[in-house]
Amino acid sequence: MARIGIDLGTSNSLVTYWDGNESRVIPNVFGKNLTPSVVGVDDDGNILIGDIAKERLMTHPNLTASVFKRFMGSEKEYELGRYKFSPVDLSAFILKSLKDDAENYLGESCDEAVISVPAYFNNKQRQATLDAATLAGLRVENLISEPTAAAIAYGLHQGEDESTFMVIDLGGGTFDVSILELFDGVMQVLAISGDNFLGGEDFTKVIISDFIRYNNLEGTSISEKESLALYKKAENCKKDLSKVEVSSFKIKINEEEFSYSLDKNKYSKLCEDIISRMKLPIIRALNDVNITPKDIDSVVLIGGSTKMPIIRNFIGKLLGKIPFTNINPDEAVAIGTAINSALKERHESLSEIILTDVCPYTLGTEVVETIGGTMESGYFMPVIERNTTIPVSRVEKIYTIADNQEEVRINVYQGESRKVSGNLKLGELTVKMPPGPKGQCLHLRYTYDKNAILEVIVTIEATGETKRLVIENSPGSMSKEEIEERLNLLNDIKIHPRDRSEYRFLLARGERLYEELTGDRRMYIGQVTRDFEEVLDTQIEHRIKKAAVNFNKILNDFEGRFNF
Ligand code: ADP
Ligand code: MG
Repeated sequence: MARIGIDLGTSNSLVTYWDGNESRVIPNVFGKNLTPSVVGVDDDGNILIGDIAKERLMTHPNLTASVFKRFMGSEKEYELGRYKFSPVDLSAFILKSLKDDAENYLGESCDEAVISVPAYFNNKQRQATLDAATLAGLRVENLISEPTAAAIAYGLHQGEDESTFMVIDLGGGTFDVSILELFDGVMQVLAISGDNFLGGEDFTKVIISDFIRYNNLEGTSISEKESLALYKKAENCKKDLSKVEVSSFKIKINEEEFSYSLDKNKYSKLCEDIISRMKLPIIRALNDVNITPKDIDSVVLIGGSTKMPIIRNFIGKLLGKIPFTNINPDEAVAIGTAINSALKERHESLSEIILTDVCPYTLGTEVVETIGGTMESGYFMPVIERNTTIPVSRVEKIYTIADNQEEVRINVYQGESRKVSGNLKLGELTVKMPPGPKGQCLHLRYTYDKNAILEVIVTIEATGETKRLVIENSPGSMSKEEIEERLNLLNDIKIHPRDRSEYRFLLARGERLYEELTGDRRMYIGQVTRDFEEVLDTQIEHRIKKAAVNFNKILNDFEGRFNF
């Protein structure tokens, strides 16, 4: 029985194994290393996973779910056709598909895995990941944090004892910075920082805006399908620019054809603003552990977006160090997970102090500040600073601002902004005040525990009266019975048969091209798609195989020629 490693990503997931010598990526049923973290349902109620589902994001947006990792550990529900799925269910489908790929490829059962999770995942989010693994029939030997996995992929765990690394991860929609320390054979994440709304998507959007400006399309209404087609073209254009000097594309919008061309220089100008947003989280992480770039021994870049030369240059300049990039940045985390599994098997296990031991965000309350003699509300007062070791309990004092103020409302926020408008509101609590002059004191106690539960207790100093609020950032994990029940339910749902997946993928590509193209090209793709469907109906395997090769060639030609 082989042990496997899994990077369960927001945009893409991968599975790896240890071949006795090194960690290798296992290709999926389409021969690709990356499996898009996308799940869909077809018209017959079959589940579609990965590439096929991603193809249908554009043609069947209501039957397709993506970026659900953002909502792991939350109550969010996805309605896909007649089903309702939680982020745990959707993740389970991805894990199951990766497990099947591994078993097909290795020819043996794979029931045990090391799975990576973001360093900032709290206990609830980690538990949700474990629940998804259980639903997928996987036993999890270990959850490892993504930056630690990346550091292991680079062999940094074997380096000098007492070294410090920075792992910078720019994925599809998130930017994560971690500072790690190796000391006495233990890897510890010392600080994390980042921006949950900065990633590859933003770079694609920059190209879209420039396309719209260039073609004077501001104010023109663009259909959902056309926008998605434009998004895809812009993303391809972005990826091209990581390799070539100039990239161009054509697209039809409202029956009119528009063209666009972008070179590297202009692209880097367009990206200046977004790139500068990467600076703050990096500096913040350094400040949190009180070190300077000189104290960092190695910098590792991971995440598909760090393939962009502009990002590598920017980080190199900012930190005065050439970052490690020789492992494919979208594979590094997955590679590290299988190495971790092999280390465990050899009992050379590297311990990791996981970061649920710190509070990832600053927790505080709204206060009024006196600015230039006048009182202004909307300011944020931190109570528990980010990266504080948990469990933690802190008290701050606040005061009434008016004589005989009748009540005090405590608004609880999480975030790093000086103004609460830039932070996330978690809850509120109101206390009635006894009569008295302004300046009456209240004690505000915040207690944050390992399960990411925040307890807020307000005590009125004069009377000793208290009021309590409990905020569960992410609601409960699943009980054994719930998992059992869910397992039965999911087992009844048909996952599209794997041996036919390749053909389904071709059909989905045909359908998508049909929607993107117009005129004769569209008619042509429509015809070859129908022809292929007819051959599929014959169920004569050798004819299907031959037709699939031809159909695939036609689709490739069209995608290549017209840059879809
Ligand atoms: P996640 O960790 O969110 O699953 P990935 O690490 O797979 O994400 O990164 C996905 C992002 O990387 C996407 O936004 C994609 O456009 C971008 N990307 C992938 N390859 C390249 C490339 N060659 N050049 C620029 N961006 C790329
Ligand atoms: Mg990732």
